[in-house]
Amino acid sequence: MQDVFADARKRLDDAFQHVKISDDLRQLLSVPRRSFQFSIPVRMDDGSLKVFKGYRVHYNDTLGPTKGGIRFHPNVNADEVTALAFWMTIKCAVAGLPFGGAKGGVTVNPKELSRMELERLSRGYIQQAADFIGPDTDIPAPDVYTNATIMGWMADEYSTIQRRKLPAVITGKPISLGGSQGRAAATGRGGYYILRELEKELGWNPSDTTVALQGFGNASYHAARLLHQGGYKIVALSDSKGGIYHNGGFEPDKLMEHKLQSRQLEGIYCEGSVCEAVSHDRISNEELLELDVDVLIPAALEGQITAENADRIRAKTILELANGPIDSAASEILQDKGHLIVPDVLANSGGVTVSYFEWVQNRAGYYWTEDEVNARLKEIMLREFHSIYGLAKEKSIPMRTAAYVHGLGRINQAVEDKGTEEFFVGEASRR
Ligand code: NAD
Repeated sequence: MQDVFADARKRLDDAFQHVKISDDLRQLLSVPRRSFQFSIPVRMDDGSLKVFKGYRVHYNDTLGPTKGGIRFHPNVNADEVTALAFWMTIKCAVAGLPFGGAKGGVTVNPKELSRMELERLSRGYIQQAADFIGPDTDIPAPDVYTNATIMGWMADEYSTIQRRKLPAVITGKPISLGGSQGRAAATGRGGYYILRELEKELGWNPSDTTVALQGFGNASYHAARLLHQGGYKIVALSDSKGGIYHNGGFEPDKLMEHKLQSRQLEGIYCEGSVCEAVSHDRISNEELLELDVDVLIPAALEGQITAENADRIRAKTILELANGPIDSAASEILQDKGHLIVPDVLANSGGVTVSYFEWVQNRAGYYWTEDEVNARLKEIMLREFHSIYGLAKEKSIPMRTAAYVHGLGRINQAVEDKGTEEFFVGEASRR
């Protein structure tokens, strides 16, 4: 999709109306610090050579080394990677982490590659990007269609190039290679903690609360699993091939078992025991978004809710586990109609928060238990949720605007502490 970045930047203008930001920061945030594009030659299994397009964008590094995932998807392009890097800048600030924002990607359909080709592509990405990533400069992580195995290959390739072990260069690694307990579930878990807080604020009864999730990957599966354990009714889920609906609710663990067997949710439409185990109706991804449910969780790709379908969205609460699933025009329509949107920069910040914990553990060489990780994650998610929810209420602004105000305030403080025009002009006039 085009112009994702231009749309993403519109959110800044909304926030600027509610927070005092120096001109320095406005200028700094108007463009990325650095953007890299490179080609990755990969020897395919049949002996041919294929060249893939790779990207890495460092959007802003005011608060620390930049941080952000690497996406393998056929739609990856410079515009999308820039938008995702911009969101990472805001997200790290919202979560109070000592990181700036970055993102990377490769334009590829990884489902068409063999495992060996995928490994060569992952290592090839690092061979091209090695000069502009590092534990103190820019730290990648998984994103759509990249996972712990791929992060493990990438960290290994980086250590080979640098001729020393540097696990803190990448997060989201397998536990055996320096990954953190709890990282795999962190994005979904963070969103889950927020919904449990909203439950208290809005007086929900979990067993009467229906939830639909778009996507059935890392972020959505763990959110669905935890919400189901917490008594919520998971009535719809989907993947790239389509969705399933059952008003009696699904057991996400059972569905994941079937998905792993069949490699797609659609596999549960097969004949035999598996189909008998899960009763359902088949729905499209578009229909899933428009279901009459209490909570909608878009957890796949950006740009899913636009001005075209916003009017048909019925869920009163929307938790953005995906990055940018609702564009700015749709956000306005939904907000005007009184929907509560928990914005991506808060809702899915659990992933980068535990990535931060992984980076800390790698640098300290001392590893925490899963309970310790989850307790620290909960503390941060609750702290930031209540700050933003409180700010939104106090100023009567949408939670998205409140989250941007909250994050921008932190970046602005750092910019001011280095000295802005006001400081330097003031200094000069005192001499
Ligand atoms: P994933 O690859 O594990 O899962 C993606 C899911 O989306 C899969 O179920 C896939 O089938 C589905 N999907 C793909 N194309 C689709 C389409 N056109 N329509 C409907 N579903 C489609 O990826 P993930 O890590 O779960 O990431 C999902 C979203 O969450 C992305 O926007 C990502 O940026 C965001 N996110 C992920 C993390 C993380 O830690 N994994 C952190 C923050 C944000």
